[in-house]
Amino acid sequence: MNNKSIFELILEGEINSDIIYENGYVFAINDINPVAKVHILIIPKKKIESINFIEEEDTKYLAQMFLTAKLLAKKYGISNSGYRLIVNTNENAGQTVFHIHMHLIGGEKLKNI
Ligand code: 5GP
Repeated sequence: MNNKSIFELILEGEINSDIIYENGYVFAINDINPVAKVHILIIPKKKIESINFIEEEDTKYLAQMFLTAKLLAKKYGISNSGYRLIVNTNENAGQTVFHIHMHLIGGEKLKNI
């Protein structure tokens, strides 16, 4: 794909943001503008613009996003208290970065949706 996403630039070290977890398929960073005590972004290393563009061949990346959410929820002590996973898609959902990312949000009581 043509233009690099902000997340690709972070992964390549062009933009400064601590990578708190990484494996062959995904990496994770703390959201720069957290909405709760824990607010992590889990991002596939392959740039896929949104859920609208996922293909069968991407399933390993998608599965790794969920497995990483489980792992980081445990690491940050919110597995039992609870957490929310969000993937925004396009304008009505407020997607601002067009490189799929999963928000892992918790550490406090969240408003019902
Ligand atoms: P979206 O609204 O697309 O679902 O989420 C994009 C998220 O990326 C937002 O929550 C925003 O705060 C976060 N974000 C945007 N730019 C940066 C950045 O440079 N560093 C970090 N750590 N997070 C960012």
